[in-house]
Amino acid sequence: MMKPFAYDLTFPGWKEWMKENQQPAFRAKQVMDWLYVKRVDAFDEMTNLPKDLRERLNETFRLQPLDVLTTQVSSDGTVKFLFGLHDKHAIETVIMRHQYGISVCVTTQVGCRVGCTFCASTLGGLKRNLSAGEIVAQVVQAQKYLDKTDERVKSVVVMGSGEPFENYEPTMDFIRIINDPAGLHIGQRHITVSTSGVVPNIYRFADEDWQVGLAISLHSPNTDLRSKLMPINRRYPLAELLDACWYYLEKTGRRLTFEYALIGGKNDQPEHAHELGKLLKGMNCLVNLIPVNYVPERDYTRTPRKQVFEFKRILDSYRVNTTIRREHGHDIDAACGQLRAKHSNVNA
Ligand code: SF4
Repeated sequence: MMKPFAYDLTFPGWKEWMKENQQPAFRAKQVMDWLYVKRVDAFDEMTNLPKDLRERLNETFRLQPLDVLTTQVSSDGTVKFLFGLHDKHAIETVIMRHQYGISVCVTTQVGCRVGCTFCASTLGGLKRNLSAGEIVAQVVQAQKYLDKTDERVKSVVVMGSGEPFENYEPTMDFIRIINDPAGLHIGQRHITVSTSGVVPNIYRFADEDWQVGLAISLHSPNTDLRSKLMPINRRYPLAELLDACWYYLEKTGRRLTFEYALIGGKNDQPEHAHELGKLLKGMNCLVNLIPVNYVPERDYTRTPRKQVFEFKRILDSYRVNTTIRREHGHDIDAACGQLRAKHSNVNA
């Protein structure tokens, strides 16, 4: 059987493991410290642990799940990593710089089976789920890169390749681990999970007792168009999705984000903006407009800048809070999945 990764365990999980291995409880805190504060690459570097414990850890766990295959740095400071996994798959992680601090965008699955038509991640289907540790390690690696310039990851968005709510438990453990004060200690309000609309797990997420943000990939103001752009809408239609969104709003008292990718000629016309404004009017939400990147495999084009502003103006008229996403790393491969798709082609 394959060994788990050290990053797979939550802090309570380490306490449990120490107990099962007849170790004092404080060893759990020491291991967390080596993994997340000192960020070592080998158990042998954990010098305040007894040698027999280090040997036991070595026998039981693997430490580093990720090999850095490539690191691309954009002129705006965006950094995109391509990481290799133990089974030769590759995943992407992105560091973005904002006025309010540095955020990291993580991947939760190799590929994706959801099949959004504007997304490159979906082209090869789903290969496999990532473990919690394989997601955690992306943030640790990003932080190690930033250590060189004494910078710190302030926020994390779960918006890379994959549908996090189809890999629910590992994604929730990932959040618990990076949020833990004994771990990377990233505040719950600085973590956002994005889903394409896996309705049952929106209810589950709303019932988690925490302040982690939720973003919904909406991309259409009506159910027919949404089914064309996002096949998941046939499983969980727009009306059911909105019911779940209302439940989330009432249960958490938090604001919800709706992602809306503007796709030239498909969903970016003034009538779409009016329909969307009527749909979301009165909701405690923010609409994030994303001019979609050109996907070479599909015939999708970008919405002209002027039209993006007009779309926002119409939503504003319904008092729906709207922002236009600033682009990151436009000179590298910014759309999720594009770099991995290239890597797969190279290795095909
Ligand atoms: S947009 Fe997200 S959910 Fe949709 S196919 Fe791409 S990775 Fe999957």
